[in-house]
Amino acid sequence: MPVLVMKFGGTSVANIDRIRRAAKRVGVEVAKGYDVIVIVSAMSGKTNELVGWVNETSPMYDAREYDAILSSGETVTAGLMALTLQEMDVPARSWQGWQVPLKTNSAHSAARIEEIPTDNINAKFGEGMRVAVVAGFQGISPEGRITTLGRGGSDTTAVAFAAAFEAERCDIYTDVDGVYTTDPRIASKARKLDKIAFEEMLELASLGAKVLQTRSVELAMRYNVKLRVLSSFEEQSDNAGTLVCDEEDIVESNVVSGIAYSRDEAKMTLVSVADRPGIAAAIFGPLSDAGVNVDMIIQNIAEEGRTDMTFSCPTDQVKRAEQALNGAKESGEINYHDLIADTDVAKVSAVGIGMRSQSGVAAKMFKTLSDEGVNIKVIATSEIKISVLIDRKYMELAVQALHDVFELEKAA
Ligand code: ADP
Ligand code: ASP
Ligand code: MG
Repeated sequence: MPVLVMKFGGTSVANIDRIRRAAKRVGVEVAKGYDVIVIVSAMSGKTNELVGWVNETSPMYDAREYDAILSSGETVTAGLMALTLQEMDVPARSWQGWQVPLKTNSAHSAARIEEIPTDNINAKFGEGMRVAVVAGFQGISPEGRITTLGRGGSDTTAVAFAAAFEAERCDIYTDVDGVYTTDPRIASKARKLDKIAFEEMLELASLGAKVLQTRSVELAMRYNVKLRVLSSFEEQSDNAGTLVCDEEDIVESNVVSGIAYSRDEAKMTLVSVADRPGIAAAIFGPLSDAGVNVDMIIQNIAEEGRTDMTFSCPTDQVKRAEQALNGAKESGEINYHDLIADTDVAKVSAVGIGMRSQSGVAAKMFKTLSDEGVNIKVIATSEIKISVLIDRKYMELAVQALHDVFELEKAA
């Protein structure tokens, strides 16, 4: 029988009533003749609560225990979803990551999927089971420890299962009815896109649009998974939601197709480091060893052989970055006068494949921000995106102003 993957995010399984509603949707697909793999997230708010408990217990925690604790949210919903389906007379059972087993590497809290054997679940489908409910976000390392796939990782579980089982489609049910030109919670003029290209979705996701985890888009692109984002709250028609697809399948699109933001950014400046060959390696080597995800970097013009080096990283990695840099200073690898952390910044980005062939997007973006009185602290560009780091208090204003100036409320 054809296989369908249906993923339900946190708000879609937030309580027993919501789980019942999600289960009904699964029942509809089973009745159409699909064998269904349901991937569930933890109930909304649960994972954050677990993270809070971990930090309260042990601020520099053992990542293996962090994963053991965080994976529990998904374990509960998987069991509840299986029970709910059974109550509806749909043959179903739950699977934790290790039972599949969803094999990952050992990078705890940000593990990568290495293999998903299909035989266990297929054997059960062969025996008449119609729904395999799999706890998202969790896997097992080569050492036999529980791993998790990074925040938002259930999306990646879903796409990986769709690829492994050659599913007809991977439907991501969430609390918005598709991918929008920007976060509809921030800009009321945001417009739902019927289709979005993999590459644009990949940029939007990696720049902060959390509607899909970045890695899930990468996998969908690589394995050609038919990926759809849709609402678990609304009635569905056959072409509902947003289809993430190849660029060639999109006839017309705007130069800029979306605005993304990331609230949890920090800007760190090393004041007065020696400007000599190897200095960047001496700074960013220890940061990388400490697991700090450095994003944007600027090095100022040197004066009298000394310069300032600025970089951005996620706010929750500031302590780790400080530790790594202080360590390198103490051991004499680097020398700086001061280390300044600014944790009140945010990143706002414009994304669009059209930028490849059209110039002037950056100038328009900078002019718009300047008209709004927003100071740009760091700029980074690539072929299809422009990102700026600004004061966090201007983030929503910047998103709305850019959405307006690039006329994203209008279809191409
Ligand atoms: P889930 O719990 O279902 O995985 P998430 O909270 O992870 O849901 O992702 C959905 C949220 O992503 C939406 O509620 C919305 O606020 C946010 N979001 C950010 N950017 C976008 C965008 N461009 N389009 C749609 N949603 C977006
Ligand atoms: N529950 C996890 C999180 O909140 C994974 C997910 O929902 O995708 O990050
Ligand atoms: Mg999510």
